[in-house]
Amino acid sequence: MGRIINGKEIATKIRAELADKIKYLIEFGYRAPCLTVIQVGDDPASSTYVRNKKKACEECGIECRDIHLPDTSKEDDLLRTIRYLNIDKEVDGILVQLPLPKHMNERRVLEHIAINKDVDGFAIANAGKLLIGEDCTLPCTPAGVIELLRSTGVNLASKNAVVIGRSNIVGKPMALLLQRENMNVTMLHSKTSQDDMEFYCRHADVVVVATGHENTLTDRHFYGGKNPIIIDVGINRGSDGKLHGDVSEEVKAKYSSYYTPTPGGTGPLTIAMLMKNVFKAYKKDLEA
Ligand code: NDP
Repeated sequence: MGRIINGKEIATKIRAELADKIKYLIEFGYRAPCLTVIQVGDDPASSTYVRNKKKACEECGIECRDIHLPDTSKEDDLLRTIRYLNIDKEVDGILVQLPLPKHMNERRVLEHIAINKDVDGFAIANAGKLLIGEDCTLPCTPAGVIELLRSTGVNLASKNAVVIGRSNIVGKPMALLLQRENMNVTMLHSKTSQDDMEFYCRHADVVVVATGHENTLTDRHFYGGKNPIIIDVGINRGSDGKLHGDVSEEVKAKYSSYYTPTPGGTGPLTIAMLMKNVFKAYKKDLEA
């Protein structure tokens, strides 16, 4: 049976460490760090994510401003809001909650955020720096996965990692970060044949799955394999109304050495990494 990697516990520890550092700086007379979250429309999942981010900010001592625009807003309204926040000296991080309404161009909006305030790490400049190995803001979910892997104490260098999913915010940066850990990385996607998917999963020491589809991997992908660490990034609302990962809890427990549960695995780490990114942006501003 695989051992559970308790994302909630690891995230709580990261938030507590940040809270200590922030408290210390505030006692020395510095302002609190500030994150501004912009939500457009009333997508219920987005509202939950925004609430969770606000709660995490509170726990860390980060001021969280929340700007809520109606989904009838024009893209120009959003861009103007971002420009205003870009020059607000008290705002360290700007986060536009995705997805945006269909009439808005997500890429154009994200590129409007000043690079030093891009705490999601989604800007092309940050992605480029990650690619060539320069210091940058790491995208929160992949950065959180690295924390989860490190928490197991397993030596990752020279081992085989498989990343399933190749999105710009999860799969691609994930593969780069695993390479930085000196892992041999294979990326799979929806066009990969099931035979190849089984082959690579069975030879993997680490499997990171981020497809957004329940049961992407089942017994047949792991049977006779190496009992890898399974990191499940997927969040899917099941027909039972509950949240499920891309792999069932049974399969993860049966075939892994360690695994992240859903919920309570990667989700809390994503938010903890966001808090870290806000703190990093704030420290850079204090030191400038
Ligand atoms: P995208 O939809 O942007 O990308 C999904 C990727 O998975 C694509 O590359 C797609 O391949 C691939 N894929 C889809 N189906 C299969 C399949 N059956 N087999 C192999 N590959 C497949 O999603 P995101 O990367 O944004 O998110 C993925 C999941 O992670 C979602 O459930 C999302 O909710 C969750 N998520 C969770 C976070 C957390 O904090 N835990 C944070 C961010 C996202 P192709 O490129 O060929 O289309």
